[in-house]
Amino acid sequence: PPDVEDLGRSTWTFLHTLSANYPSRATSTQQTEMRQFLTLFSRLYPCWTCAEDFRTWMGTRGNEPRVEGREGLGRWMCEAHNEVNRKLGKREFECARWEERWRSGWRD
Ligand code: FAD
Repeated sequence: PPDVEDLGRSTWTFLHTLSANYPSRATSTQQTEMRQFLTLFSRLYPCWTCAEDFRTWMGTRGNEPRVEGREGLGRWMCEAHNEVNRKLGKREFECARWEERWRSGWRD
């Protein structure tokens, strides 16, 4: 099975790309679906301690998913990722550059 790091890199690529392709103004159905997706994701992500911490963070007041549109969701995902970066002692990502990295695209 993929290790926690490979799985993490691939999953962040998926999650940020998902956010980058979310509508700028989501309908209420799309908002409900995204909220459900994130809830299920946080239950099913196959690194159990990762999933548990993510779930706890997401459930804390102020950290609820922002699903109104792309900008909010992208920022939220960046903050979620930064929370994990902090936990792992990695550098925080500058969320103002989120779109540049994940929507317009750069390579690293
Ligand atoms: P990654 O953190 O995987 O990042 C990939 C790329 O994303 C970076 O190269 C950078 O260009 C970009 N990036 C970095 N930060 C941000 C940001 N804030 N916003 C947007 N783009 C960014 N690992 C553990 O060991 N313990 C855990 O508890 C844990 N929890 C996780 C929870 C979730 C939900 C996920 C998806 C992963 C988790 N991981 C965890 C894996 C961990 O986050 C990394 O994916 C893994 O350590 C590989 O790190 P990396 O340095 O290659 O880059």
